[in-house]
Amino acid sequence: MVLNTDINYLQGVGPKRAATLLAELGIRTVEDLVTYYPYKYVDRSRFYTIREANENLPYIQLKARIVRFEKRGEGRSQRLVATIADGTGTMELVWFKGLKFVTERYRINQPYIIFGKPQRYGRLLNIAHPEIDILIDGAEQKIQGLQAHYNTTEKMKSSFLNSAALHKMIYTALSDPTLQIPETLPDDMVRQFALMPRHDAIHNIHFPKNVQLLEQAQRRLKFEELFFIQLSIIRQTKLREQKYRGYIFGTIGDMFNRFYHECLPFALTGAQKRVLKEIRADLASGKQMNRLLQGDVGSGKTMVALMTALIAVDNGFQACIMAPTEILATQHYQSISEQVAHIGLNVRLLTGSTKRSERETIATELQNGSLQLLIGTHALIEDNVVFKNLGLVVIDEQHRFGVAQRAKLWAKNIQPPHILVMTATPIPRTLAMTIYGDLEVSVIDELPPGRKPIATYHYFDNKREALNQFLKKQIDAGRQVYIVYPLIQESEKLDLKDLENGYQQVREAFPDYKISMVHGKMKAADKEREMTAFAEGKTQIMVATTVIEVGVNVPNASVMVIENAERFGLSQLHQLRGRVGRGADQSYCILMSRYELSNDTRKRLQIMVDSTDGFVIAEADLNLRGPGDIDGTQQSGLPFDLKIANLAHDGKILQTARTVARDLLEKDPELTNEENKCLTLQLAKLTKSIINWGVIS
Ligand code: ADP
Ligand code: MG
Repeated sequence: MVLNTDINYLQGVGPKRAATLLAELGIRTVEDLVTYYPYKYVDRSRFYTIREANENLPYIQLKARIVRFEKRGEGRSQRLVATIADGTGTMELVWFKGLKFVTERYRINQPYIIFGKPQRYGRLLNIAHPEIDILIDGAEQKIQGLQAHYNTTEKMKSSFLNSAALHKMIYTALSDPTLQIPETLPDDMVRQFALMPRHDAIHNIHFPKNVQLLEQAQRRLKFEELFFIQLSIIRQTKLREQKYRGYIFGTIGDMFNRFYHECLPFALTGAQKRVLKEIRADLASGKQMNRLLQGDVGSGKTMVALMTALIAVDNGFQACIMAPTEILATQHYQSISEQVAHIGLNVRLLTGSTKRSERETIATELQNGSLQLLIGTHALIEDNVVFKNLGLVVIDEQHRFGVAQRAKLWAKNIQPPHILVMTATPIPRTLAMTIYGDLEVSVIDELPPGRKPIATYHYFDNKREALNQFLKKQIDAGRQVYIVYPLIQESEKLDLKDLENGYQQVREAFPDYKISMVHGKMKAADKEREMTAFAEGKTQIMVATTVIEVGVNVPNASVMVIENAERFGLSQLHQLRGRVGRGADQSYCILMSRYELSNDTRKRLQIMVDSTDGFVIAEADLNLRGPGDIDGTQQSGLPFDLKIANLAHDGKILQTARTVARDLLEKDPELTNEENKCLTLQLAKLTKSIINWGVIS
């Protein structure tokens, strides 16, 4: 049997299961099947007692009886809790879904084998959504060693394709004595880095004989996965560099110089100066610039964007700045057109609500070249927006844009313009290296002078009264306040209700103040009106969902209250917090949460209290949640699925894989050497599925 064999032909699979596997997991061939790796291993050689259990243990198994079932909470937070006992103590099992199914299926007092990850909620330990098996006397003796567990979908489970069934299929495939699993890496590389051969690694990843062999198998497969991604990304980047020349912006001319000497409203920070130097070097190099500018909220990225645009204009080119929301684009437009009024730069704004006549002016001026800087939303990437000679594209808060949208901007010229991508969601290095490949990164790691770090506190509802008093004091001192409620896509209706309830409560608590409200379901014009009222200080309190997360600038606002903070990701909390602290006054961020919190959530909120450094927070987020959940990647998606490597934990392997890939391409750019031929096949498979953000962003 070869790896390419259709799983249809595998014993015990059959057409129906094959169809389900294809539809649910994309598994078509034996190779797909045996490279579908387990997501965890349960040490089934040992049972724990409830007394021994603690939240620091990984998955454990217990022998216990259910003492009682109980429903707790209401609405969204309704859950089923089972108390279990084994003679050494009690703990709880918790279900948030399938409550009816659970109560019907499991019996009080029946002994069960219970698997799961213990967590601590308040004083009690619990396991959420445990796996439960009936305990049959003597059965536990049969199960031994490390047992692999596989992710399955609801559909699969309902047709009995559970983890155990998958395990069995994989066993069937791997025990075929004719099955060949060829090596994908050059022999020298395998030897030099002491990698387990692929054949052995695949066997051990599914059926580890012991922990050491499992670890070797994991290391080998992670290395392979990361190596091919790096090889692909670095190779594409090199090809792009050969193919495209960059416009050379060699002059620093009138616009830039006059702006710098006559209009700059403040002295640039050292970090802004350094980044501008890096950008200038790129622009003059003859290579097309492709640079990511990371800088915390409020670090002054817009000024860098503007001055870069002035360089483009000085060299006879047009520039554009694209922002993710209308509000943000409008704010950029207002502040920038004010700042450049004196030097006579022609700037215009293009958004979804730009009037027809203005659109026509923009179209004409873009094509005759008299429009020098166009600011806007994704309206900029529509096909009918045609530039005469676009030389620079700045993309603000890049993670809000999908990959395809950015690719469209890229295509607005025969020769691609220079690209500057700006983000306030710092991306941990491992992630940046993997997503962006060889994209150059600049960092603004310094805030403008005079900013006081935002003081952050985490409170429960019992502090509500004190909080309201505090807010009143701030408002009476002339400040303004944000109060933000979560908005999660799946339950928009419920969230909106939360927001409206919140709004009512705020009105009752603050009868003497004016309150604005903004949420995503409002018409753009209404949103605009509310935002403007707040920005102009006509209202004192802004009740909102996360639509205000990005970019809005109201320096007079000094308090950010985040309700249900436990429901936000770290980067999102950080972004929201960045809405305050923009003026010279002391600002505050108050995280309100319910009392019962999981360990991870507690840690997350604590990190916010402890740190205001976006990079520290991004690293912590990656560690706690894994790369798929990091804000900024989930929206536009990681450009590929990692089957086994984990960017939060495998930074070292990634670094090695990257270095090896780079060296190899230095020596053999076309991969034509005999020993590297085996790489091209694997690379071809992969390249189809990888989108290189470094190339298209
Ligand atoms: P972000 O990096 O979050 O986009 P902005 O560009 O919006 O930050 O800048 C935040 C605020 O700081 C703006 O009001 C801007 O005018 C101001 N600012 C930027 N650079 C400086 C500086 N060097 N000194 C003082 N204030 C600055
Ligand atoms: Mg900004």
